[in-house]
Amino acid sequence: MTKVAIAGSTGSIGRQTLDVIASSRTNDDCSYELVALSAHSSADEIISQARHWKPKLVVVTDPIARARVARELVGIEVIADLSELASVADVVVNGVVGFAGLSVTISTLKAGKRLALANKESLIAAGPIVAPLRAVKGAEIIPVDSEHCAIHQCLRSSKNHPGEVARLLLTASGGPFRGRTSGSLADVTITQALAHPTWSMGPKITVDSSTLMNKGLEVIEAHQLFGIDYHAIDVVVHPQSIVHSMVEFRDGATIAQLSMPDMRLPIAYALDYPNRSSVGFGSIDWSTLSRLDFEQPDCDTFRCLGLAYSAGRIGGTAPAWLSAANEVAVEAFLAGRVRWTQIASIIEATLQHHDGLIPGDVQDIMLADAVARQWARKEVSR
Ligand code: MG
Repeated sequence: MTKVAIAGSTGSIGRQTLDVIASSRTNDDCSYELVALSAHSSADEIISQARHWKPKLVVVTDPIARARVARELVGIEVIADLSELASVADVVVNGVVGFAGLSVTISTLKAGKRLALANKESLIAAGPIVAPLRAVKGAEIIPVDSEHCAIHQCLRSSKNHPGEVARLLLTASGGPFRGRTSGSLADVTITQALAHPTWSMGPKITVDSSTLMNKGLEVIEAHQLFGIDYHAIDVVVHPQSIVHSMVEFRDGATIAQLSMPDMRLPIAYALDYPNRSSVGFGSIDWSTLSRLDFEQPDCDTFRCLGLAYSAGRIGGTAPAWLSAANEVAVEAFLAGRVRWTQIASIIEATLQHHDGLIPGDVQDIMLADAVARQWARKEVSR
């Protein structure tokens, strides 16, 4: 039995992880024991999850919510510290949104456990801090993101990577504005930016997908995860979202991973690796899927992609600045304060102020984030 802890169990990744575990139970082949759940302040939902799943440990980070959860859950330990999740589990699923997820990543790797990673900050903002922890005996990161999970699967066909890898090809759906020119995007509405053609996600990541920033951040994550240089990571627009990414090897062979767009597959992959999950998440219907299209991304219209490559190449705290500036710009867009086309301009102007700090610890990362946000807010109000 694999002992599973879920950090962020009331969020989208957390709920889908519970769904994967539930599906494997109905499949009569359950190899997971759910040992811990965590949430920030969603008291009602985590109480009902804990009553159903009966974990050993529940972590609630908000003190008021924690007091309520502790009163309601008799016989289950309710604590505040997210880093305790790794002490009871074999695999920790990190579905926490934001910097709070960093402590889960660090404690899991330090404990020499497997990290099923969906938290973006861990690799983008804190990449230089997290990287050395992967050398801890038993520590490993299995990415829970469709593209990186695909690359992880493709790399299994090579015994000698990164040496045999010619390039990584990250696929992008292109978002709702694929094929549009920047002139025609000056007046797009929030509703239009939130209408993603293939994936259903939260508002922030959906806007990121419309600007291609989501793909830019994934390029940085791919560099951190797989140790491949930026010049050997390319983005290919693929509107059907069936090919989740590809690896080209030095002999010219390209290996791709295809499946229906369903996040439960990467989650189950991360839980069961190196085995394949016994649960199926929908096979491809080749009688209705008549074509797979590929095109080059339009980097002049979708400038965020190029900004991400630049920040990634600078390294250090530049990706933290990029991500912080993007969050501020997207928030301002969703609040109706700036136009969609200004998102890239705000990020670009913010990065002009990057101070080149090389992070030594988590405090440096938090500081870089705070300083970048200040500059980005100034740019928003200009
Ligand atoms: Mg993705």
